[in-house]
Order: sequence, then structure tokens, then C-alpha cells
Amino acid sequence: MKRPWNFAAGPSTLPLEVLQQAAAEMSDWEGSGMSVMEMSHRGRHYSRIRDEAEADLRSLLRVPDEFEVLFMHGGGSGHNAIVPMNLIGRNGRNRADYVLTGHWSRKSYNEAGRYGDISVAANAETPLDTDGRHYEAWTWIPSPDQWRVRSDAAYLHLCANETVGGVEFPELPDLAAVGAPEVPLVADISSNILSQPIDFTRVGVAYGGAQKNAGSAGVTLAFVRKDLLGHALPICPSVFDYANVAGAQSMFNTPPTYALYISGLIFKWLIRQGGVAAMQAASRRKSSTLYDYLDQSDLYANHIHPSCRSRMNVPFVLRNEALNAVFLMESEAAGLLSLKGHKSVGGMRASIYNAMPFEGVQALIAFMRDFERRHG
Ligand SMILES: *Cc1c(COP(=O)(O)O)cnc(C)c1O
Repeated sequence: MKRPWNFAAGPSTLPLEVLQQAAAEMSDWEGSGMSVMEMSHRGRHYSRIRDEAEADLRSLLRVPDEFEVLFMHGGGSGHNAIVPMNLIGRNGRNRADYVLTGHWSRKSYNEAGRYGDISVAANAETPLDTDGRHYEAWTWIPSPDQWRVRSDAAYLHLCANETVGGVEFPELPDLAAVGAPEVPLVADISSNILSQPIDFTRVGVAYGGAQKNAGSAGVTLAFVRKDLLGHALPICPSVFDYANVAGAQSMFNTPPTYALYISGLIFKWLIRQGGVAAMQAASRRKSSTLYDYLDQSDLYANHIHPSCRSRMNVPFVLRNEALNAVFLMESEAAGLLSLKGHKSVGGMRASIYNAMPFEGVQALIAFMRDFERRHG
């Protein structure tokens, strides 16, 4: 079966073999006589699905025992409220600091303002002039040694990969090295989860919706260091209190059962592919091949600072914007879907998550080269 290449930012492409397995099991999961979506979440079949999903996720990311793995509702955006409601009262100061690097971290910051005293530790909304080059807002990442982190902040939040802008932290910062050893780091990893290892020694909470790189929409994955449980504000809804969710093995209420089953199939697929080390190597190869092509082209360009170009989301512009519409029309006809950039950025964006093979990137480049030859 030949499918088009889907470069959507999320929900996004899934491995065909995972979709085919889900289809084969749709009306009867392993002889149970039930679809996964018809099962009791407390029954023995679903318990196995849930437990295997957690065990596989833990082994893929080598999650230390000091961390809970939670399967929650609410998406990445829900976590913009769930994080402050659970953490901001931790030390009685009701303060949290945010690093702003684009669309998603700014949204997190805006929502947090409802829960306490929120301060901006670093902001990439201002342009940067460096090494004789100019970088626009949201195309660079301020160096951690210049962040202003308050030592009594309940946490510091950042977005590890800005899905819209296409900037990614090359590594999670060590807050001890920037003078804030007591401040837990909270990272939104919605769009680069499972594409590389996570250094859990640097993390307090990491969370992400599954629909970019870890399954379908509906389930949110959260890794929470155990000492951060139990500090929720009184206004925090019970179903969003990390301590309740952890205490009930993510069954405090009915979990998004089918979405978690799909994530579980993805985890098994990832293990068969060689795990996150293999995904990291593949993502570097795919993204650097695409960036190298963009950098030598006269028609296309990517404007992100080279130190923080995303391995997952590659925005690019056509220097002749009058060609945008025909580019999108012809690319779709060529079997390359969803290349239109986010409305706030314009241009194009190719999202190349784990499920996008190198072959898909090669097909994209072949099309772009041909398009440039015909229209450039
Ligand atoms: C998509 C995305 C979100 C929002 O996810 P929802 O599940 O739609 O709430 C948050 N952060 C990042 C980095 C994302 O890519």
C-alpha cells in the first residue's frame, strides 16, 4: 500500500504497520471478543494494555524510579494550567518563571498568569543581531547563562521544541549551572518526545500531548518527579491533581483508553526500530539533509539560528512568495501533504516526526528541486 507523505504538524503521520495492527484488532482485541474501546478500563485486558504501555515507555526513555509516569487528559494546553495548579504553591511563594521562545511557550506563560506571580526568565521575542546576521523574533534561543531565574521560583518552564516556529533546545539546560539548583525544570516536550533521550537529572516535570510524536490525540504523557506530588492548589480539579492521578495509576477517572492503546502500539514499534537512540540518529539525518538542501537553494530559505534548528519541524519560505499557492497545490498533487506553514509564521513547514522515514524527506527534496527548476 502506497500512501502519500504526510508532513502535518499534529495530529501527524503514524507508522502504517501500527495503523494496520489497530485495524486488524479493531473489533476483537486478542480474542477478547471486544474492541479496545469497548473494554472496561479496570478489566484484565485493558490492565495489560496500560501496564505494557507504561513499562515500554519507561524502558524506552529509561525513566528513573523517582518519576511517576502519568497518562492524563487535557492535552499539552491543559498542562498550561495543570502545571501551575500542581506546582506553584510548592514552596508557599506562588511564583514561577518562564522562558519564552515562541508560540507554545508564550501560551503556557499567558495561562500561568492566572495562578500566581509569573516572571519571564528569558525572551526571544526581540530580534537578535549576532555574527553580522539578523535573527527575527522566535528564531533563536537565549543562552541559559543569561536567564534570570528567581531562586524562590516554584519551577521554571520551557518548551523543548517550538512546533510552530521550528526552534528546539539542543539539550535541556542544567539549572544548577545557572545558579538555580533548587528550581525544578518543567519542559513541554509535546513535539519532540521520544525523538531523543531525556536527561531526567535535569527535569522536575516533562509533559506532552501524544498526537505529534507518540500516538493519537487524547492522551497526555507526563513524567513527574515524586517529590513534586502533593502540592496542588485547593482550586485544582481532582482529576488534574498529579497526586490523585499517580495514586490511582492514571485511573482516577476513565483514562483515554483507545488513545493510550495507540500510544502503546507506537512504543512497541519504537522498540522494534531500535528505540530512542535510533530515532535520534534518524531525526538528525532527516533534518540535516533537509536543512542542507534549503541552505544551498536560491528559492527556499530557513531563518532559524543554526544552533537551535528543530529536528522535528522545519519551517521554510519561498523567496518569491507569489509561488506559495502553486507550491502547495503541486506538492499535494505529488503526494506531499500538509506543507502549509502555521498562520502566524506563513510560508511552509515540514514536520518530520519519528514516523516519517528518510524516504519521505528524499521525496520532498526531489519535489522541491524540480519545482525550483521549473519556477525558480
Ligand atoms: C501541539 C502542542 C501543544 C498543544 O497541544 P494540545 O494537545 O492541542 O493542547 C502544546 N505544546 C506544544 C509544543 C505543541 O506542539
